[in-house]
Amino acid sequence: MESFGLPHTEVGTLLVDGTAVDFTYLVQGGDRIDIRPIEPPWQVRIASLLRPRPLAELRFLVDANVAKLGRLLRMAGFDTASYPNWSDARLAACAAGEQRLLLSKDRGLLMRKEVEFGRYVRATMPAEQLREIINLLGIAEEMDPLSRCLECNSPLQRVAKEEINHLLEPLTRTYYEEFSRCPACHKIYWPGSHVDKMRVLLADLLPEREVRRR
Ligand SMILES: [Zn+2]
Repeated sequence: MESFGLPHTEVGTLLVDGTAVDFTYLVQGGDRIDIRPIEPPWQVRIASLLRPRPLAELRFLVDANVAKLGRLLRMAGFDTASYPNWSDARLAACAAGEQRLLLSKDRGLLMRKEVEFGRYVRATMPAEQLREIINLLGIAEEMDPLSRCLECNSPLQRVAKEEINHLLEPLTRTYYEEFSRCPACHKIYWPGSHVDKMRVLLADLLPEREVRRR
């Protein structure tokens, strides 16, 4: 299958003469093989014949080619590791070891056998890629904008305005009351710009109540 350029990560169902088999099946002469794609919503947290060890949690890993998508996934609140300088071997080991869904535009990387959960990203523009992945996995309801640091992926913590007042620009100090801070890299976030950007990006995906709540 992969000799035709199709990574195993893209296969949803493998049928031999109409019967579903797993990746260990050894093809014999005369077999009629039917390869079917993954159908949305792809339930990566539920075991299937081809992927008997589901992901315990929904967590992503992006390679350098889709690093901007990684940032948008973080903006939407999803745990997304990003190591632009890592080799394919290291990325594949991370996907397996940390149980992450590897997103890539590199078929060779996705063909590595240790990658159990991976996806070839079809779209070109990062906003379209985000839409593609959210639709594929059916996770629009799980978005939690402004809950995670865009720089380092750590979950943000609420912080009192008094504590950080001295660090704010005058206009931000005037117009905003609610702030979060990254416990790891100390970057400060407030609802304004990021949520507005999310709203534009995901107008038809993000439930309105989610945007208003923040
Ligand atoms: Zn951070």
